[in-house]
Amino acid sequence: MFHKILIANRGEIACRVIETCRKLGVATVAVHSDADAASRHVAMADEAVHIGGSKPSESYLRGDAIIAAAKATGAEAIHPGYGFLSENPDFVEAVEAAGLVFIGPSASAIRAMGFKDAAKALMEEAGVPVVPGYHGANQDPEHLAGAAEAIGYPVLIKAVAGGGGKGMRRVERAADFREALESARGEAATAFGNEAVLIEKYVDKPRHIEVQVFGDGTRAVHLFERDCSLQRRHQKVIEEAPAPGMTDAMRAAMGQAAVRAAEAIGYAGAGTVEFIVDGSRGLRPDGFWFMEMNTRLQVEHPVTEAITGVDLVEWQLRVAAGERLPCAQEDLSITGHAFEARLYAEDVPKGFLPATGRLTHLRFPECARADTGVRAGDEISPWYDPMIAKIIVHGPTRDVALRQLEQALARTEVAGSVTNLAFLRRLAGHAGFAAGDVDTGLIARDLEVLAAVPVASSQVMALAALGALGLDREPGPVSGFTLWAPLRRQVVLDHGGEVVRAVVEVRPGGRFRVELGGTAHELARDGARWRIDGAAVSAGMVVAGAEVIVFAGDAHTFGLVDPLAVAAAAGAGSGVIEAPMPGLVKAVFVAPGDRVAVGDRLAILEAMKMEHSLTAGRDGVVAEVPVAPGAQVEAGAALIVLDAEDVE
Ligand code: ADP
Repeated sequence: MFHKILIANRGEIACRVIETCRKLGVATVAVHSDADAASRHVAMADEAVHIGGSKPSESYLRGDAIIAAAKATGAEAIHPGYGFLSENPDFVEAVEAAGLVFIGPSASAIRAMGFKDAAKALMEEAGVPVVPGYHGANQDPEHLAGAAEAIGYPVLIKAVAGGGGKGMRRVERAADFREALESARGEAATAFGNEAVLIEKYVDKPRHIEVQVFGDGTRAVHLFERDCSLQRRHQKVIEEAPAPGMTDAMRAAMGQAAVRAAEAIGYAGAGTVEFIVDGSRGLRPDGFWFMEMNTRLQVEHPVTEAITGVDLVEWQLRVAAGERLPCAQEDLSITGHAFEARLYAEDVPKGFLPATGRLTHLRFPECARADTGVRAGDEISPWYDPMIAKIIVHGPTRDVALRQLEQALARTEVAGSVTNLAFLRRLAGHAGFAAGDVDTGLIARDLEVLAAVPVASSQVMALAALGALGLDREPGPVSGFTLWAPLRRQVVLDHGGEVVRAVVEVRPGGRFRVELGGTAHELARDGARWRIDGAAVSAGMVVAGAEVIVFAGDAHTFGLVDPLAVAAAAGAGSGVIEAPMPGLVKAVFVAPGDRVAVGDRLAILEAMKMEHSLTAGRDGVVAEVPVAPGAQVEAGAALIVLDAEDVE
């Protein structure tokens, strides 16, 4: 086993790898960018080396700086995590040339699977079923359109260098093909610097089922499947293992195909073979096709660890250190059922816009495994993926595990950034999901319900009012409140743009009466809980900056409003279109003098490798366009200014 390794990554995966290293007595070296100097993975590692600027290209993608850090600290091996350099064969070669061990597959195995088109050709040869389609070299639009016609609509255009659902377009009919091809190529060129695509038959009611494999360079085993069908725009949201409805026959067929795929390329380490499954007629051994192989540890590996009891990072280190496969196929079995939910800083009602912010409060429940790269007080910066944590549960049956997931999500508390928690909770409570009736279209079909803003009840508003006055905890020995007479105080809160006015009457013994317009509630502290109008309620409040957040299943955020300022805010909804986050202005569609209508697309901002359309909030005439395409802007920068509204 190694004495010391370097982790060429950040965030939760760097922390995850460090945890296993500690268990194995392996010393760890973290690397970090400017933005990450005070981050959790740096604090956890035995040593840390600064490798450059906040942009990934100036730090986590700088293979030379990372290798130099490993040499300087005496690390013997490099764990790449996922993303960044994890699937870069040139990096693997550079690591080996420097006399270090790459904890992962060989450069040639990564190359074999690096492009979706070449991988499909290779798998066809190895006898693994692949999705019918065109994955040839001819990229002439005319030829591709012909191929789509021959395959039969609907088809899926995919970037051959793709990942994370980017450069992918579903096309329903021939008339839409050219436009979809154009936009898929544009996105692929931006994200991967390679605009080549392949065309696939769009599989009906598709399910995404992937098989975890593990190889030692000669032999491979599989650690069963994960179902990752709950996706939003081809990005995984909740994953589970095993797959609901999986039969022994199909599991055996998929497992064997995955092992064949791994052995065909002499695979070493952890890998995942992704299949698309036709879910329209139940799971059948002839109804799955190879999509791609990910030659690294996956984000969702913890659900496999939960059901198999295997520490996959431990296996990675042992095999990289020269050991054979730690066990044979027949030694592996499935125990129970596991789910993983990906908790993100993102604004769900605003179309899942990535968010940033300092996490003023962060608490994970005891009843779940939480893999995270942040602590309370840490910042979700605009530089990287805005994941806060992965919440993982494991129970004896799918039913029990799903209930555990709901509970765990309800008890997860985040303040300082908007999150997708309410969305995840609704998904965990979705009837179709509970029945195991999953496919990749489930979220899109029910998006309106799943993504709705949680409604705050008047009880929640009453709790917010107490929180705003700092009355949520027991007063200290010197209390500002007189005990001989009820004290009345006014509170004004902002809840999603609506003004909430409350009058709080403080009574002796930790009791309160809160009046809200027409209703009133009697509240009393009851240990760590509350009694509201006599009923026990589990809820907590946190005041963070100018906000009160009430955690009562869902999190409800209220802004603390200075009552005198309420009047001044009446001019909101003005005609300034601001950048919602830092990014690059990709395109501007209007010029001064243009007349626009509410909802018109005015500009495109590229941030976090995704494109965000900015639209007009009202009708008007463009007065000013202070930015040009190519400009890098800060959050809040004015992009388009409309004329002052016409006075009628
Ligand atoms: P990426 O590498 O960008 O993540 P994948 O090839 O893994 O792209 O596909 C991502 C998702 O797109 C899959 O999980 C699945 O939901 C959907 N998908 C991919 N191929 C097909 C197909 N042929 N038919 C239907 N859905 C597909």
